[in-house]
Amino acid sequence: MANNKRKVCSFCGTNENQVNMLVGGMNAFICDRCVMQIYTLAEESMSVMGLDFNPQAKAKTKPIPKTKVPKPEDIKTFLDQYVIGQDEAKKYLSVAVYNHYKRIDQDLTDIELEKSNVIMIGDTGTGKTLLARSIAKMLNVPFSIVDATVLTEAGYVGEDVESILSRLLQAADYDVALAERGIVFIDEIDKIARKGDNPSITRDVSGEGVQQGLLKLLEGSQVNVPPKGGRKHPDQQYIVVDTKNILFICGGAFNGMDSIISRRMNTQKLGYRALQEQNSFDRDNILQYMAPADLRSFGLIPEIIGRLPVLTYLSPLSKDTLLKILTEPKNAIVKQYQRLFEIDGMKLEFEDAVLEYVVDKAIEFKLGARGLRSIFETIMVDAMYESPSKKKKTVKITLQDAQARIEKIAAKQHVA
Ligand code: ADP
Repeated sequence: MANNKRKVCSFCGTNENQVNMLVGGMNAFICDRCVMQIYTLAEESMSVMGLDFNPQAKAKTKPIPKTKVPKPEDIKTFLDQYVIGQDEAKKYLSVAVYNHYKRIDQDLTDIELEKSNVIMIGDTGTGKTLLARSIAKMLNVPFSIVDATVLTEAGYVGEDVESILSRLLQAADYDVALAERGIVFIDEIDKIARKGDNPSITRDVSGEGVQQGLLKLLEGSQVNVPPKGGRKHPDQQYIVVDTKNILFICGGAFNGMDSIISRRMNTQKLGYRALQEQNSFDRDNILQYMAPADLRSFGLIPEIIGRLPVLTYLSPLSKDTLLKILTEPKNAIVKQYQRLFEIDGMKLEFEDAVLEYVVDKAIEFKLGARGLRSIFETIMVDAMYESPSKKKKTVKITLQDAQARIEKIAAKQHVA
């Protein structure tokens, strides 16, 4: 028997003939207009509560952006503008990035191309973060840096591994589709190495457990991400992010890696002896001989190593490289100060010896490239304080000025 009962929206009472759509539930109906009103209401009240209302739905309506990727040689040329030296790392990174975005943008059905996440090993301040940041700048994709030291296993003070993706979502302005093509730089990956061979003796809350969590992200899966980061909790709203196309670049200093490599090479006499016989064994840069087995000896689990197939190293910075870092990159420190003076209509010049002095001090203080800026800042403070009032056309910093300034600070610190 046909149901002749008139259908009306249970919320506003409008007849089904007067609406575009009427959706039926168990014992009620709702019209399209009420659906829209409830949607708006929910969106407004959730934004008052500081929650993002179904950001995925918003993202899905946008077309998925394609990333224009230059050829590997062009990527390297771009990196050369910002990063001095480190040619090996630049080359590996250029190829990895090129292949990564090629893999995403080709809908291949016959063969599945695996992701080429990268691991870069090198002393602190040698340019690992700068390389990753420069790549993201070139591609114009969302980029985030996370420090692996803040990550701990669930149940302990620290952050869940999923919070790595919260930062990426923030960088993508919560556009999930965009974030899903971004780059994440995980710094200090060496700090989550397994502490000992027997993890059951002491709880290894920031070691193997975190590596297991990270594995899920690296291999590509759907991850529930807390939008604001930190620890997950039961009442929280999550955003689902697919990590299949996110490029992970990991970096770490891996202190002690030299001896692990040397030890392995000593036991593998063949390769080592051949290098020694050819007189081509470079004792000052042992990291170049690193193999995945060394990462395992250091305490990374084999599954993680397998998910970081591109392994490369950064060389220690020589005095010559540090000098170039001062003047050559597009935004070199010297160029930045000269620009600052130029804005005030002044020309800033340095005696050549000043730059060498700055580099020597950075080496002496064991600060590497990271120290160049703070030493420069100390040297420049008097000139930057006085020059704008003196209205000189040219300001020249002499070695004497530089030495006097640094010695004054050193004397103060000594007294303190
Ligand atoms: P890492 O991540 O290896 O610890 P960073 O990339 O953060 O080191 O480098 C710190 C700073 O030192 C950078 O911001 C940059 O100014 C400078 N720097 C380091 N290495 C280089 C390099 N090879 N070329 C140019 N600048 C460099």
